[in-house]
Amino acid sequence: MRGLSPTYRWPLRPRDPASSSPWQCHDVTGRVSHLKRAQRDTNTTPQIFHINLRNVFLILATNAAYHAAMAKLYFNYSTMNAGKSTVLLQASHNYRERGMQTYLLTAQLDHRAGEGRIASRIGISDKADTFDSATNLIEVLKKRLAAGPLACVFIDEAQFLSEEQVWQLARAVDDLKVPVMCYGLRVDFQGKLFPGSAALLALADEMREVRTICHCGKKATMVVRQDEHGNVLQEGAQVQIGGNESYVSLCRRHWRAAMGDTAED
Ligand SMILES: [Zn+2]
Repeated sequence: MRGLSPTYRWPLRPRDPASSSPWQCHDVTGRVSHLKRAQRDTNTTPQIFHINLRNVFLILATNAAYHAAMAKLYFNYSTMNAGKSTVLLQASHNYRERGMQTYLLTAQLDHRAGEGRIASRIGISDKADTFDSATNLIEVLKKRLAAGPLACVFIDEAQFLSEEQVWQLARAVDDLKVPVMCYGLRVDFQGKLFPGSAALLALADEMREVRTICHCGKKATMVVRQDEHGNVLQEGAQVQIGGNESYVSLCRRHWRAAMGDTAED
């Protein structure tokens, strides 16, 4: 996944001046194998020790600097059923596999007691803390950071954040130097931006689209809400809890047709 692994790369040497990036990145494996070659070619123990110690300091210093510089607010957006939660869980797993801690948050829309969970339609899930409209996210993240190192924060259902909560996340990125990855729907069933998504589109450092397709094969960017009989609903609250509605993702043209906006020929 492009851009999800800044933490594992080190800016060590200036790059080709023609390149757009000022740094050439070497991954850990590349660096270590380079050192092993250096050790093999060196016969004296003190020299080996010197090389190792210098390298350890270099890695620690560059990692800390790079990590702090790379803290960004990301918005991964899509329509319904595109696999956002799957992408989130995989990205979190990639960090944990390398011994780094992540912190997962998802929206609590109703007030049932109990632990939150982020679940994917393909069957994987992980436990998560929850936020509601009253949660102060910068306080939550300060508390979590005080408990131990944190490589990345992942937020599912980010369309339900308020504008103020998105600002709290932006402050966490800038001031606490922690990367925050938000995953959410861009527009509702009426084609209107969710508040959290509007704020993220305005404030995020980086945005990526998680794609899925319409039945016609074009990219789906819209969603229709259907009742239990499959009738398309044109009115209703933006957030519906506990109903029998279902959602279908469509391209804009087929969404217009479903909503009664007939195509011009
Ligand atoms: Zn279509």
